[in-house]
Amino acid sequence: MAGIDLHFHSRASDGALTPTEVIDRAAAREAKPELLALTDHDCTAGQEEAAAAASRHGIAFLNGVEVSVTWGRHTVHILGLGIDPEHAALADGLRRIREGRLERARQMGDSLAKIGIEGCFEGAMRWCDNPEMISRTHFARHLVDSGAVKDVRAVFRKYMTPGKPGYVAHEWAGLEDAVGWIVSSGGMAVIAHPGRYDMGRTLIERLILDFKAAGGQGIEVASGSHSLDDMHKFALHADRHELFASSGSDFHAPGEGGRDVGYTESLPPICRPIWQALEARILRPQA
Ligand code: AMP
Ligand code: MN
Ligand code: MN
Ligand code: MN
Repeated sequence: MAGIDLHFHSRASDGALTPTEVIDRAAAREAKPELLALTDHDCTAGQEEAAAAASRHGIAFLNGVEVSVTWGRHTVHILGLGIDPEHAALADGLRRIREGRLERARQMGDSLAKIGIEGCFEGAMRWCDNPEMISRTHFARHLVDSGAVKDVRAVFRKYMTPGKPGYVAHEWAGLEDAVGWIVSSGGMAVIAHPGRYDMGRTLIERLILDFKAAGGQGIEVASGSHSLDDMHKFALHADRHELFASSGSDFHAPGEGGRDVGYTESLPPICRPIWQALEARILRPQA
């Protein structure tokens, strides 16, 4: 939806810009956005700063987060939109997820060292402001910067996806827990970029049913990670399962591929936009 972007990252997780910089970048687009939500992974540290920046630009804002979830043998991402970052159950849940990241990153460094690529843990940490938020993206930036691999995409393909030498399996939050924290804090839960999961139709349907049973109500239809075919496919899933549709760029960093921040394509007309259901949670700039 032109002017609406409800999924992007800052340096509080694995984005390259500060919360202020990423909102400034969105605001500087030729068509100023109407509504933005910052959705850092497992962390709400950037919300206050981003909300203040949006307000300065006269742009409406939703507090957001992208929660890492383990569902069966799959990692899925669940967005929380319109959350209350201070809510105790949500804040505790996110803190527990973050706790596992540092040890996982050490193991990733060790396993890359075994194939002769030394120093990656320390290298990745130099790209990360907050050690408990260390992620595969920081490893990827280090490997590109050190000249070992040509770009971030190639790092994931060669080293950091299941079965590859730098990949370390990890147990994230449960689906029911993640959706529960989001909903109890006053937000709505959204299945992020469903087109990216390695799941056929039957599994996607099962994920949607489990997600709905836990209290989830939305799915990303327009996404920087989706092709046009994906967008139409998930618009039909949303319609069939009576889910609200969301739109987000999933922007991380200038020049790292994917969509820029502050804009997503219009949702297909059968969709019910989730922001209409979140009206009461939208922070409007003071006149
Ligand atoms: P982590 O939470 O540490 O597992 O890192 C996940 C992050 O890695 C995602 O949020 C994306 O930003 C990034 N990522 C995952 N897969 C890819 C890929 N194939 N290409 C580029 N970035 C990716
Ligand atoms: Mn990311
Ligand atoms: Mn994601
Ligand atoms: Mn994301």
